[in-house]
Amino acid sequence: MSTVDLNGKTITDSVVKDVLNNMAAYFGATLHVTSGDRTTVPPGGSPTSLHLSGKAADFKIDGLDFGNIYQNLRNLGANQVFVPGHRYEFIWHGIHTSTTGAHLHLGRISTNADGYVKFIMEGITPEGSGTYAVDLQVPLNGNNTVQNSYMPQ
Ligand SMILES: [Zn+2]
Repeated sequence: MSTVDLNGKTITDSVVKDVLNNMAAYFGATLHVTSGDRTTVPPGGSPTSLHLSGKAADFKIDGLDFGNIYQNLRNLGANQVFVPGHRYEFIWHGIHTSTTGAHLHLGRISTNADGYVKFIMEGITPEGSGTYAVDLQVPLNGNNTVQNSYMPQ
């Protein structure tokens, strides 16, 4: 079943929850939330994290690795999954992450008619540990144009 397992976590932002539900349906698999609202900053975490304002979630999806999910959404599925009218960050924290472990992160930055998703990779390579360079910004304009494919080295 393609459902969202909140795993006992609270996510205050309803749009973030809607996107997670869309994502589970899009991939046809159960999505497990591993972190939602936070009141403290974990080791390696950001003091301005959207988790602190209830607008972020960390998660995994059964049967799919983080890179597959990231590349599918980045290259193809963003406009089918993300609710338009908002700006988001979508971060793939890899095995060299400076956070507490590899995971995917979704955060809603703001409400804005000019919506987009910033796809960001951190810690995919040892050199990329702790750096948050924007990989690609995909506009949420209802256009499912395939982006240039990308394979991390
Ligand atoms: Zn996070």
